[in-house]
Amino acid sequence: MQSLNELFGLSISEAEIFQLAEKVPEPLVGWYRENARVLPWRENPTPYRVWISEVMLQQTRVEAVKPYYHRFLAALPDIPALAAVPEEQLMKLWEGLGYYSRARNLQKAARQMMAEYGGQMPADYNSLLKLSGFGEYTAGAVASIAFGIPVPAVDGNVLRVFSRLLASGSDIMAPAVRKGYRRLLLETMPKDFPGDYNQALMELGATICAPNGPPDCGACPLSSFCRGYAAGNPTAFPVKAPKKERRLEEKTVFVILSPEGVLLRRRPKQGLLAGLWEFPWIEGFLSQPEVSACLEQWGIAAEKFRTLRPAKHIFSHIEWRMNGIAVLCEKILPPEGMTLCRWEDLETDYAVPSAFAAFKKAVLECQEEWK
Ligand code: SF4
Repeated sequence: MQSLNELFGLSISEAEIFQLAEKVPEPLVGWYRENARVLPWRENPTPYRVWISEVMLQQTRVEAVKPYYHRFLAALPDIPALAAVPEEQLMKLWEGLGYYSRARNLQKAARQMMAEYGGQMPADYNSLLKLSGFGEYTAGAVASIAFGIPVPAVDGNVLRVFSRLLASGSDIMAPAVRKGYRRLLLETMPKDFPGDYNQALMELGATICAPNGPPDCGACPLSSFCRGYAAGNPTAFPVKAPKKERRLEEKTVFVILSPEGVLLRRRPKQGLLAGLWEFPWIEGFLSQPEVSACLEQWGIAAEKFRTLRPAKHIFSHIEWRMNGIAVLCEKILPPEGMTLCRWEDLETDYAVPSAFAAFKKAVLECQEEWK
């Protein structure tokens, strides 16, 4: 096995790296217990609540998660409820949070727990890892916070804090380097308060040793032995290999509405935003004659048009740039593959992803025109 000093590109020995990591828990957890933000999932951290919050917080900001978390728990308070909820309702509860496969995996895992663990979450790291949607991070977070099992939960915050603490210039996106940090944490984490330790590392990374802008080293409980701070250049860490450029896709989105409702179509069952509802769109930015030709092909008789504000949506690897056109009709006969969503059902029965949020807003504005 490669030594940690080689892996992290450091001139200090592996033993010194371990000594430094062993200094972290005490001051960090002391700081955390005094300064932790009050967050809804920290009150009464049952395994189910910890799991739901950890999955929601992946790729999503704390403030954005809060209302979803409350709504989700009110509708689905436990594993049996999550296992039994119809998919359409689950997607509606997740609408706007993005990365919808997370919600589907939650349900798959809930069903596994119903079938294999009597509707309980297994209090064992390796059993958690076998559940749908549980990677090392989620299994580590649930095992340590909900069950007090001493396993790390290494996310971007933890990698940032440790790469600064060590002043390591190794690429934190490299799997071997991430494994190295995991090993370091596993061997140096406190056995009697692993949940607080993991949460304290995440909290420090989210609030003091934060990703954007300089860290607030003056307020950091680790500054007396932080190598990045001592070197005067903590923002030089972490090092990440440059991301691949996102692919740009241009679309013309049609908001086709009548006094009865608005046209929607369902996305394919596989792939990006699988199974969710969207406004019909055509690849490319269409000219007015091309828009008219398209509507004719769909058998839509337009009364009025309105050009909508362009919108964009960024996924991890694709960026959608969308021109929008509202088409007001007296009556709509839905073309094949599309559905006329009645106004009263739009908010309750159809999960439309936030990629189309600007156009959903436009729908409500256009509705006014018909009054
Ligand atoms: S001293 Fe500064 S760079 Fe080092 S861990 Fe604390 S906030 Fe991060």
